[in-house]
Amino acid sequence: MNICASCNSDSVVFGKTKIKVGREIFETKAEHCEKCGHVAIGPQLQAEIDKWALGFSKSIVELQPYFSEAMLNRVTDLARMFNLSKSEFMKVCTVFFLLRLTRNENFKTLRTEVIRRAQAKYQGKREKVCVPIKYQLFKKVDLYTRVWKLEYEANVMEEAVQFCVAILDHRAQIEETKRQRAALINFVRSHAMAS
Ligand SMILES: [Zn+2]
Repeated sequence: MNICASCNSDSVVFGKTKIKVGREIFETKAEHCEKCGHVAIGPQLQAEIDKWALGFSKSIVELQPYFSEAMLNRVTDLARMFNLSKSEFMKVCTVFFLLRLTRNENFKTLRTEVIRRAQAKYQGKREKVCVPIKYQLFKKVDLYTRVWKLEYEANVMEEAVQFCVAILDHRAQIEETKRQRAALINFVRSHAMAS
């Protein structure tokens, strides 16, 4: 037997095991710890999980970001303006943030500056919200989490929403984000029409 990387016990065996992927369970045969259930997921197993999870057309992963009440009120207003639910709006912000904004050559500076301003403007005690997302989006979120060394995947949605709300906000507008604003409005509108 091999040593478990999670609990250090000598209980690693090969055989049927279950891996939790968001709200779903992936069943496979792999090396796993009989004691704590830990499965060391290598590249091949990860590829199998991805292939299986990408087959779901529904949202199987739930992000639980935290936002201040002031920010959630602003999100409610903006979502209504675009004829989207709050969850849909937060998801569109996340997609736009990951696909478009991270490609901006000044992203690193903008990220710090814009998010700082959004946090300063929308202060207060933060509360948790639950946003179900599809696995496709989760993979992008997961990658960003690792690249930017964030603690939780939900932190990506927090950043994305804060960033997008700030660039939609006239008063909080920053010179460099002005051209992003029009792109974001078009992006959210086209998504609202498609949903
Ligand atoms: Zn273990």
